[in-house]
Amino acid sequence: MTFLEGGPALAEIHWHPPSSPESAARAEALFASSFDGAPAGVWSAPGRANLIGEHVDYVGGICLPLALPQRTWLAVRPRTDGLLRLVSGQCPEVWQGAVRAVRPGHPRGWPAYLAGVVWALISEGLLPAGFGGVDVAVHSDVPLGAGLSSSAALECALAVALAELFGSGSSLDTAGRSALVKACIRAENEIALAATGGMDQTVALHARTGHCLRLDCDSGAVDPLPLPLDANGLVLLVINTNAPHRLVDGQYRARRVVVERAARLLRVPTLRRISSVQDAVGRLAALGEDDPELLRRVRHAISETARAGAAARLLVEGRLAELGPLLDASHTSLREDYEVSSLELDNVVDAAKEAGALGARMVGGGFGGSALALVETAAVPAVTEAVLAATEAKALPTPTFLHALPGPSAARWS
Ligand code: ADP
Ligand code: MG
Repeated sequence: MTFLEGGPALAEIHWHPPSSPESAARAEALFASSFDGAPAGVWSAPGRANLIGEHVDYVGGICLPLALPQRTWLAVRPRTDGLLRLVSGQCPEVWQGAVRAVRPGHPRGWPAYLAGVVWALISEGLLPAGFGGVDVAVHSDVPLGAGLSSSAALECALAVALAELFGSGSSLDTAGRSALVKACIRAENEIALAATGGMDQTVALHARTGHCLRLDCDSGAVDPLPLPLDANGLVLLVINTNAPHRLVDGQYRARRVVVERAARLLRVPTLRRISSVQDAVGRLAALGEDDPELLRRVRHAISETARAGAAARLLVEGRLAELGPLLDASHTSLREDYEVSSLELDNVVDAAKEAGALGARMVGGGFGGSALALVETAAVPAVTEAVLAATEAKALPTPTFLHALPGPSAARWS
């Protein structure tokens, strides 16, 4: 990767390293130092970027997520006494609780994502009701709370581990993985109480190396689309602003409430069923509904799905270098209409574009977190340096970078 071999100016730039065998060894080492003996195996699941189609998974829209080369690694061993013992390199105190005590809102904090998966798999009949519990040690190369889906990586790595340890031979075929997606979404929504849609879990469990997914959140269709970035001389550069999510839970839920209200007013199951922004606005006006905030949210939901559909068509035709204007329009819509961007995100998006990125936009839930930029390989040093200079000038947190080469889905390591 020539752009990583920069001169002295690039020495300051922090790249999040891709996962490697070392990552699995770290999970195993944490397991050994936290619990007696060795794990039964190590499983991992990827974080994700999303090329386009943001905040539309919960309105039946289209999105184009891809798996990052950064993954979350779990060393896992079954128990027989009905207990869960969980430890993470990011929060190294062991958490312990009973499987039967898991319920909505309990446990709180990070253990909810793993305990929630156990609860959901039992609820869905994918684990026996008398499930004996597990010990889990976590090492993650996915930055936490950076809009890159560390939460779904955590959930989906445990789901594949439990499916392999306790499931049937078909648990990890396509249908089996779709059943795990559903359980992981329930874990996040019902136990961790995060009102997110299903994009993150779907890509963590169905991703394909070298591809993004065309995920139709209305029909449920998941189609891999080739994303030959290298062959086109392009890099998908993820810029972690290192600005913490602010108010993300309440704001995320608030957006969902508004677009779901709009769908009820329009008497459709989701906004996907409305063919155009004009149609939605006309029908809402006929109902006497002229709340400008509601209209802006609806405009984002419908226009973003149209952009994601257009981007998918460009990918099918191999026209990757033409994606830029769609990424830019997506960011504008997220900033102006959906109002989920932030000063830090706008700053890195603007700086990347000024330095020659073909397009750039925020990614994930917003209010901090990460942006992505589509950049010609030769322009990566100029773009990264411009982003750092622009944040330094405004005294914002120093961004870090990931090279988003699309990787594989959740799987067993050893
Ligand atoms: P994102 O999924 O974009 O990273 P979320 O807010 O959805 O952001 O999820 C982040 C939360 O997930 C963390 O605050 C923590 O509770 C949990 N989490 C994710 N990965 C880990 C990990 N490796 N160790 C401990 N907790 C984790
Ligand atoms: Mg998340």
